[in-house]
Amino acid sequence: MDFAVTRRRLLAAAGAGGVAALTGARPAGAYARLPAELFALGVASGDPTPDGVVLWTRLAPRPLEPGGGMPARLVTVQWQVAEDERFARVVRHGVSTARPEAAHSVHVEVGGLAPAREYHYRFRVDGRISPAGRTRTATAAGATPDALRFAVASCQDWQNGYYAGYRHMAEEDLDLVLHLGDYIYEGEITAAGTPDTPGYVRAELPPEPVRAEPYTLEQYRLRHALYKTDPQLQQAHAAAPWALTWDDHEVAPNWAGGDDPDPAFPARLAAARQAYYEHLPLRRAARPGTGFRLYRRLTFGDLLRVNITDTRSYRSTAAGEMLGAAQESWLVDGLTRSPARWNVTTAQVLMAQLDYLPGPGRSFSTDKWDGFPASRQRLLTAIAAGGVRNPVMLSGDIHTNLVNDLRIDFEDPDSATVATEFTGAAIASRGATPEEEAGMVALLLPESPHIRFFEGYHRGYLRCRVDRDSWRTDIRALDTQGWRGQVTSPDAGIRTLASFVVEDGRPGAVRV
Ligand code: FE
Ligand code: CA
Repeated sequence: MDFAVTRRRLLAAAGAGGVAALTGARPAGAYARLPAELFALGVASGDPTPDGVVLWTRLAPRPLEPGGGMPARLVTVQWQVAEDERFARVVRHGVSTARPEAAHSVHVEVGGLAPAREYHYRFRVDGRISPAGRTRTATAAGATPDALRFAVASCQDWQNGYYAGYRHMAEEDLDLVLHLGDYIYEGEITAAGTPDTPGYVRAELPPEPVRAEPYTLEQYRLRHALYKTDPQLQQAHAAAPWALTWDDHEVAPNWAGGDDPDPAFPARLAAARQAYYEHLPLRRAARPGTGFRLYRRLTFGDLLRVNITDTRSYRSTAAGEMLGAAQESWLVDGLTRSPARWNVTTAQVLMAQLDYLPGPGRSFSTDKWDGFPASRQRLLTAIAAGGVRNPVMLSGDIHTNLVNDLRIDFEDPDSATVATEFTGAAIASRGATPEEEAGMVALLLPESPHIRFFEGYHRGYLRCRVDRDSWRTDIRALDTQGWRGQVTSPDAGIRTLASFVVEDGRPGAVRV
């Protein structure tokens, strides 16, 4: 079924029940003045369930201008989901309204699909058809998939490097992409860096209004739009469903939503939230007007459950709560009552203890779980006491690849390993120099034997595969490198830097 047929059927169906409800009451021809390139920001899908997925696009013909180059009026958008990439077998279709107050973003929650199946989707506005995306539904409850494949990404500071990692990710056959935050960076976009002041490595600067540090909704929209113009990021979104949570740089450095003392912060946070929702394939529960609840679960039959957390919105500023009471009990509940063999939690920021002070004494980064030791201890204790099957923590934020044994007592190297943690390096954000990297390995690792692997120079992502017997993580590393590992070419190649396996029933990863 093509779009023309779809539209005729829609109009025929609407004839009985009211055209306005289905078409947004736009008379035919009303789109004549819309610019040609409506889909400059690509398409995306997210949060797969066994019977559905969220489809996303945003109409923005001139993404780096305020308003995205769209007129300030409602626009009706048609969508299709097909079994085949030529859209010969359309199984679901409908219409949605892109509203100026939501930056003409479109979020469609499609249901009625079959589990564990590949689908293709696209949008149409006034005869212009979007690029097509590929997505995949989750495994049915109770079903047993042979294996699942997913990638873990984080930290994509646009000005610090190209998104070559996303081109390689798009070529993997994935059930899911997990993004752990720092999808945008709010810092000012500046002129090219030097080896002494490593910074901007892209070939050209964006227009002036896009470079300023964002505080208002329009500024956050411009920043998200800039990131979304990257063709390799669009490619990865179009290749698989994503599930995302945010970290600090979507809003402001190291923010803590639980008790931020700055009276100007709530307005900034509200702007950042709105723009974040508008630019990503998130479900209604994550919409700012309906509570902005980002913590949620995805479950793939009896093989894999992913608990996606929000470690920013409810955290207190110092040494208090990381998750907040409601999210913490939700998480413990989801872990201890899981039907799945592998139970992922997005720790987001490093959960393993990391002592930055060589020799006697301790120095911890208070923005990571090291700054919330009571929250961490409660969670690891609950995991141990609850007999959670194969708990795996996934984190980013630190721009470094780590593989960690999460011990019930980090000060006692003989204490039980309760869970495994994989921390992925950044897609683009800068890392350590080779000299800094060597120094950290030599000085920090001997005092942290629960850290099995530490590599801070290469940019990349984690590729994970789970089956009934084991979990495998391949640390994927890009090969074109700047002073701090920056990806200086969009054509950078990739290789596997190291691989680790966790056996069913035995926490802690083993290098293979
Ligand atoms: Fe980051
Ligand atoms: Ca020390």
